[in-house]
Amino acid sequence: MKIANNKVVNMHYAVMDKDENLIDSSYDHKPLAFIHGSGFLIPGLEGALEGKQVGDSFIVDIAAEDAYGERHDGLVQTVPKALFASIDDLDVGMQLRAQTDQGEQTVIVIGMDEEEITVDGNHPLAGMDLKFDVEIIEVRDASEDELAHGHVHGEGGCGH
Ligand code: ZN
Repeated sequence: MKIANNKVVNMHYAVMDKDENLIDSSYDHKPLAFIHGSGFLIPGLEGALEGKQVGDSFIVDIAAEDAYGERHDGLVQTVPKALFASIDDLDVGMQLRAQTDQGEQTVIVIGMDEEEITVDGNHPLAGMDLKFDVEIIEVRDASEDELAHGHVHGEGGCGH
């Protein structure tokens, strides 16, 4: 069975930057399961998987624009530290949920002084060209429940 829209795909992957420094990998834990064509994956990877089948393994280069998009300087904002007074151990590198001009989103603290903190709402991989190493473990039809819910059900279903 070939990968196409509404197939459930189980795959292992490793994602690297363009110099092949490892960023993340599923190989030492469970494969990633998703419904193909649901927008779960970045566009470049979804496109590369189309038509592949069980046992296929391949490496694909994906430009930033087909991965997590380009960086936007407007997503870096400096705000009064007092807004985060409720957080005890506020520090550079921490991820926060924050109200921004673009609505609530996850931001990373990238700078801090006595009065202000600087947060970055870009995805950590935005602006990066990526390389994926993929191995297809399973391809099957999605069940009606899975298509209705928009996600994959493992053993015992998802309980809703
Ligand atoms: Zn469900």
